[in-house]
Amino acid sequence: MKNNLVIYNSLSRKKEPFNPLHPPFVGLYVCGPTVYSDAHLGHARPAIVFDLLFRYLTHLDYKVRYVRNITDVGHLENDADEGEDKIEKKARLEHLEPMEVVQKYLNNYLKNMEQLNILHPSIEPRASGHIIEQQQLIKTILEKGYAYEINGSVYFDVLKYNKQYNYGKLSGRVLEDLQTSTRSLEGQDEKQNSFDFALWKKATPEHLMRWPSPWSEGFPGWHLECSVMSTKYLGETFDIHGGGMDLQFPHHECEIAQSTAAMGKESVRYWMHNNMITINGQKMARSLGNFITLDQLFSGEHTMLQQSYSPMTIRFFILQAHYRSTVDFSNEALQAAEKGLQKLMKASETLSKLKPSLTSTVDIATLKKKCYEAMDDDLNSSVLLSILFEGVKYINSVNDGSERLTSGDLKSLTDLFSTFVFDILGLKDENSGKENVKLTDDLMKIIINLRQDAKNRKEWALSDHIREELKKAGITLKDLKDGAEWEVE
Ligand code: ZN
Repeated sequence: MKNNLVIYNSLSRKKEPFNPLHPPFVGLYVCGPTVYSDAHLGHARPAIVFDLLFRYLTHLDYKVRYVRNITDVGHLENDADEGEDKIEKKARLEHLEPMEVVQKYLNNYLKNMEQLNILHPSIEPRASGHIIEQQQLIKTILEKGYAYEINGSVYFDVLKYNKQYNYGKLSGRVLEDLQTSTRSLEGQDEKQNSFDFALWKKATPEHLMRWPSPWSEGFPGWHLECSVMSTKYLGETFDIHGGGMDLQFPHHECEIAQSTAAMGKESVRYWMHNNMITINGQKMARSLGNFITLDQLFSGEHTMLQQSYSPMTIRFFILQAHYRSTVDFSNEALQAAEKGLQKLMKASETLSKLKPSLTSTVDIATLKKKCYEAMDDDLNSSVLLSILFEGVKYINSVNDGSERLTSGDLKSLTDLFSTFVFDILGLKDENSGKENVKLTDDLMKIIINLRQDAKNRKEWALSDHIREELKKAGITLKDLKDGAEWEVE
């Protein structure tokens, strides 16, 4: 199986040709959300970026097993080893069971993902459903000598691991620097070194989510679940691991250490990280008051928003940037994206109505080649969109008669739009459905009124005829005191 795809590997820090281990199969693992609050902009970007990768690999005829986990236990505040579990904290605030919190926000997340036209991953495993596997991995790491137990908790021995392997290879952090930067915390906890991290934590008496283990009743450390669930479903060595850049350290660095310590080799062949989103140049944070959830964006209900923005506007806006560049959200930028998306959708509609000529004056084959080159160059959706807008220019020129296309070229251009705009970028025309619903509604009102007129004139045969004909078309009429209701069977 041949492809020209080149992707940037965060581990080697360079672009590499993409060669899956067992073609046509591709294993893809992406760190999913910790479900303790409504999904926000920060959730939208990795979901859209890796949906783009999933869609493109599928388009290239690979059989992709896409695993995106749900973190429902073990993620403590500030990504630390001490402190409250994010989900438990919310459960106390909202007077809910921790698993009710998980379900509530998971439902919200999945609803938002559907609105953004993100395809379902192949498997969405939960951390709490893999406690036994996580305990098994801890046992293996203990047996290999890269972890130690203290007071019922188990910690990863970073210093010992670093003697054999290289801790910090992904993030570029150096152990000596970590030692200095985290020294102030020493003495506060039971770890041998402040940079060691928890594999298992003994639960305090008030901690709600807890499981029995050989070490104590407790819960797994946050990094462990991804080492376990990625290799369980994709094999000891798999192709791509993705996530946001903010997860590189400590989360992914610790994942590498755990898997390498247990198996003596690396699990991941290509590490991919999407860059972050800023809002008016600032990092998004609850404390800065610029924290916008996806529901707020879609409804416009936030003091920072001048209007609502549709899910496809958000998707288009994120795809306008290459995934390794930062994206800055502002009302102006979103309004520009909204216009761009409308222009693209309108052109696609015009395309379906164009009349062919005997000769072509524009080169569609080159346009198609450039689209593939953009995607093959580390998923450059930004360049891809600019090439598609060249296509928009052609469409409008053919429409106003200044350029011509043969029927063959017209078909190629239609296929190209269908493939790249709809299948690969995953955009959809949000207005077409709405227009159809409104049109049908208006037409039915006219028909029902005409039938009512017939009934008023006591033309029963005509009124029955209208009812019968509608029935044949799959529409049932129900007579009311004044007028009628209709429904599709
Ligand atoms: Zn993860």
